[in-house]
Amino acid sequence: MLTSRFAPSPTGRLHLGHAFSAVFAHQSARSPGGRFLLRIEDLDQTRSRPEFVDAIEEDLRWLGLEWDGEPVVQSSRSGAYSQALEKLKAMGLAYPCFCTRSDIAAALSAPHGPPGSLYPGTCRGLPDDAKRRASTAHSWRLDSTKAIERAGLPGWTEQDGRRFTAVAAEIDDEILARKDAPASYHLACVVDDAASGVTLVVRGIDLRASTPVQRLLQDILGLPEPFYLHHPLVVHEDGRRLAKRDLAPTLQALRQSGVDGAELARNLAGGALPSGFRLAEA
Ligand code: GLU
Repeated sequence: MLTSRFAPSPTGRLHLGHAFSAVFAHQSARSPGGRFLLRIEDLDQTRSRPEFVDAIEEDLRWLGLEWDGEPVVQSSRSGAYSQALEKLKAMGLAYPCFCTRSDIAAALSAPHGPPGSLYPGTCRGLPDDAKRRASTAHSWRLDSTKAIERAGLPGWTEQDGRRFTAVAAEIDDEILARKDAPASYHLACVVDDAASGVTLVVRGIDLRASTPVQRLLQDILGLPEPFYLHHPLVVHEDGRRLAKRDLAPTLQALRQSGVDGAELARNLAGGALPSGFRLAEA
């Protein structure tokens, strides 16, 4: 059955951009009689707060968006993520990485691009003794070169039927898990989408860069391939992105100013945004 999901991180109040994404995901599944799921992506324990989980549910109800079943909460799913990580290790496609964030930032100083955007490969192919130190690793990374050799370059299909094939440069040796987190966003996302039977991943065009590596992980782990719908982003009229720290466009603020949630959801579904905002493709 067509199944979509909305997967917010409880690190702040939802804003208009989240509402647009949730409405889109809800509509894409429910209009043809499918399921709409809610997933709480709370693996970043330093930034996630239980009160924001309640706020997400409150905001979605205000918009009139009901989800099917209980929300999936990522912090309770470590076992499933560890299993997937062990599988990748056993296939020789994950390696321990001892680099700290600042090591990586230093290795990536200009002219290679913005710090932190790509992993320079420092720990890839370390000699065997590194394996003994694996328990002190900061993180585990995907060996993207070996993974592509094994599974081929991944492709994906947008809901409108357009087929894309990734290029190798779009796929980094992404972090799969960290010392302090059982899974990275990418690993948790593919494990959970598969476990929940998600067949349509609806998310903003800003997350389009995550799709190649997630499709590769699905191919390697033998998980089903969903369709994708990367929607435009809600931005301020002057082009500024909406940020969680912006107080004005939170759904809570709109509710408190007397906006009707169901009407807002209907307008968003028709692509009509409140004044002061517009859609942007990137
Ligand atoms: N948790 C992500 C976010 O809030 C969404 C991830 C996804 O939809 O794949 O941006």
